[in-house]
Amino acid sequence: MNASTPRLRFAPSPTGFLHVGNLRTAVANYLFARRHGGQLMLRMDDTDVARSKPEYEAGIQEDLRWLGIHWDEYARQSDRMAQYEAAADRLKALGLLYPCFESEEELAAKRALRLKRKLPPVYDREMLRLTPEQRAAAEANGKTPYWRFKLSDGVVTWNDLVFGERRVKLPSVSDPVLIRADGTFLYTFTSVVDDLEFGVTHIIRGEDHVTNTGIQIDLMRALSGKPEKIGFAHLPLLTDAEGGKLSKRFDSLSVRSLRKDGLEPDAIIAYLARLGSADDMAPLTRDEVTATFDLGRMSHSAAVFDPRQLLGINRQMIHRLAFADVVSRLPQGATEDFWLSIRGNLDLLSEARVWWEIVAEEISPPEQPDDADFLRAAADALPAEPWDKNTAGIWTKALATATGRKGRGLYHPLRLALTGEESGPDMKDLLPLIGRDKAARRLLVSAG
Ligand code: GLU
Repeated sequence: MNASTPRLRFAPSPTGFLHVGNLRTAVANYLFARRHGGQLMLRMDDTDVARSKPEYEAGIQEDLRWLGIHWDEYARQSDRMAQYEAAADRLKALGLLYPCFESEEELAAKRALRLKRKLPPVYDREMLRLTPEQRAAAEANGKTPYWRFKLSDGVVTWNDLVFGERRVKLPSVSDPVLIRADGTFLYTFTSVVDDLEFGVTHIIRGEDHVTNTGIQIDLMRALSGKPEKIGFAHLPLLTDAEGGKLSKRFDSLSVRSLRKDGLEPDAIIAYLARLGSADDMAPLTRDEVTATFDLGRMSHSAAVFDPRQLLGINRQMIHRLAFADVVSRLPQGATEDFWLSIRGNLDLLSEARVWWEIVAEEISPPEQPDDADFLRAAADALPAEPWDKNTAGIWTKALATATGRKGRGLYHPLRLALTGEESGPDMKDLLPLIGRDKAARRLLVSAG
């Protein structure tokens, strides 16, 4: 690694499983690192002790592994308390971290008053004027302070890799609380300490963090004493098809549920990589998606997460998969011929099992009393084996001549009897896989 190696991080809070919203952030960081020869850190932002759970931490790792998203380094914020203490001491020494004693109720009352006076509801920094005596008196009364960071005046600007120039006016933001009264640190702070110490070069995250970025850039400058060199990119939010906030449905859109539904990891990655991008959605391989990943092509407006479009990408991807890529996930005994015959009919790889049962096991097709004579005639007319891809054509042609049937009247009863399904792969491919014994039996069962 040299000084110019990009260093990225994906920093979920282990307070739940991964869902498409934070996975999209993970995918963007992963692909950016991969495209630019960089490194990716997975960092657990677990400062919220009450809500962070080991099972979520393990679950996030497992989901990322399943998706083939590898990380080069791993960190957990709860392991780094000493570093945060030291950084807080530095800010205190600079006079930039000040103790506060107002209660929630007092703050709410102040906000209401400011709003009434048509002033922005920003914290008024009353505690900055607290004298040592007043502080001592508050502490003597059993109060423990929480700590706010004194933001600079002025405007923070950065050149966002998605949005171009962005700005946050610091005077319209309240000084953020960095340390709670119980001594625990808030994400706003711990994230900055980590990003500086780990030498993170690019931060890609959701648009909901834009104000945070203004605050955190100011904090970075205070802590490091120099201008930050980090590149920021904010991804527009995701909505559902009705334009509603997707976050409400995140539970049903967890990576676990997509996995349970049988979606391909590569389809999920290809879909999320281009969601909201000017580049067309396509069933790209991991390498193709990496080589074309470009934050500059992202739209500035919210992107619609459409499960049907994801399924469409999944379908196209399955249709291209070679036998060698899927054999380990196919039913025992499945052949290449079987795979090539059915893959064009699958939305999900798991559906291969259904077709395997149809060609290799016993099924009970529905009775078709109206077509009983025709089906019996069809059973009689089955050619002798060996069968190949020409067999179905020879057989149905002979049946057409003998019965005068054609089109749907000819093919539909046969398909229903042989497969139990209304539609599916080409009969010329299926028939040799089913074989004469099973075909004859099914035609007679369906005849009743
Ligand atoms: N833990 C934060 C979150 O999940 C990380 C945000 C960031 O990337 O800085 O929102």
